[in-house]
Amino acid sequence: PLDFKFIRDNVEEVESNCRDRNNPADPRLVAELYAKYLQRNQELAELQQARNANAKKLKGKMSKEERDVLIGDGKSLKEQIAALEGTVEEVQMELQREGQKIPNMTHPDVPVGGEECSTVLETVGSRPEFGFKARDHLELGESLDLIDFESAASVTGSKFYYLRNEAALLELALVNYSMGKAVARGFVPMITPDLVRTEVLEKCGFQPRAENTQNYGVRDSDLCLTGTAEIPLGGSVMNSLLEEDSLPLKMAGFGRCFRTEAGAAGSASKGLYRVHQFSKVEMFVVCTPEQSDQLHQELIDIEVEMFKELGLHFKVMDMASHDLGAPAYRKFDVEAWMPGMERYGEISSASNCTDYQARRLSIRYRPGAKPGQKKPKNVFVHTLNATACAVPRMIVAILENFQQEDGSVLIPEVLQPYMGGVKKIQAR
Ligand code: AMP
Repeated sequence: PLDFKFIRDNVEEVESNCRDRNNPADPRLVAELYAKYLQRNQELAELQQARNANAKKLKGKMSKEERDVLIGDGKSLKEQIAALEGTVEEVQMELQREGQKIPNMTHPDVPVGGEECSTVLETVGSRPEFGFKARDHLELGESLDLIDFESAASVTGSKFYYLRNEAALLELALVNYSMGKAVARGFVPMITPDLVRTEVLEKCGFQPRAENTQNYGVRDSDLCLTGTAEIPLGGSVMNSLLEEDSLPLKMAGFGRCFRTEAGAAGSASKGLYRVHQFSKVEMFVVCTPEQSDQLHQELIDIEVEMFKELGLHFKVMDMASHDLGAPAYRKFDVEAWMPGMERYGEISSASNCTDYQARRLSIRYRPGAKPGQKKPKNVFVHTLNATACAVPRMIVAILENFQQEDGSVLIPEVLQPYMGGVKKIQAR
């Protein structure tokens, strides 16, 4: 359930949070609808009480006139109750609809403003110096016979691709390498369904029914293609009551991501950078409220360790408030240097969603009882998600950063064992 009481009791704070996040949701409307809902519910309870009292009276002895009056009253009460039940249901639906639009609250350290206000937490490595004219991944992909956009254009459409030769192996290597890293940190390796119920997407805070949705639907079904394994991973624990000592749950899911990329345009959409389908290893954590800030840091530490080992130059960003998706309380992105675009490009994103998804997915835990104290109430968990490896952008970064003057590309050492020992991609 959404926390309407919190919204009502803190309406100014919630309004200012929406303003900070540049989010058009209307907490005042939600507070009004909640008051209306409570009021109508109260009226309904009173009418039901009156009807019960009336029915009880009818059981006693009385004259025919008195009985006729009571029967008349009973009929009228029944009609009033039916009408009011309809109103309560309508108000409740509107309350849910408007309440769903309210974004999560925001960590006090998040910089307020647009993307340009995001702060750099850490910079690793430095830009590669090429003593020659660097090529972008499109040129490299073509000259080394690694990426085939042409076949994909006729088979599927634009923004789809075939990976060939070492690029196909590179995808598998990246997936195995990042999955191995996550497993070494105690994450349960998982392969997740790529189709999910529309309802599960909504409960994770996505908007599959919106006009400009990022999700593809499936005809004649209530299923959507997943945009990220975060959805099946979060969904795997919905409607559950967990024991405190089982937390944190750490999962690493491999899945295919499908995105309409409605509204996305510009140079950052070239080639593999923004595509409709890609593979990703995603980390997902379920924990207590006390654990989530520290686990958020742990997730970013895992990402940093991997991108360092791969030899990339990157910045870790504390993303500004306008850039947080509705479920995120705080978000750390990693942006790697992309020589082809001569700028940094996002390669990963780690969000602490606190109890935003847990309330919608109904995931609670039972806090351990302290000796001599009353049994504590069940509490909503916190959920976090973070990219371990979004394959296409990693391929872009590897091809462009590790290219050599002769047109070949060096494979990062940590990936070589997953590629049958291949050290270099060269023209055939
Ligand atoms: P998100 O789930 O939106 O935070 O995305 C996770 C990561 O996936 C991003 O940091 C990007 O590296 C990558 N990514 C997102 N959208 C696309 C896309 N359309 N094509 C390729 N990679 C993407």
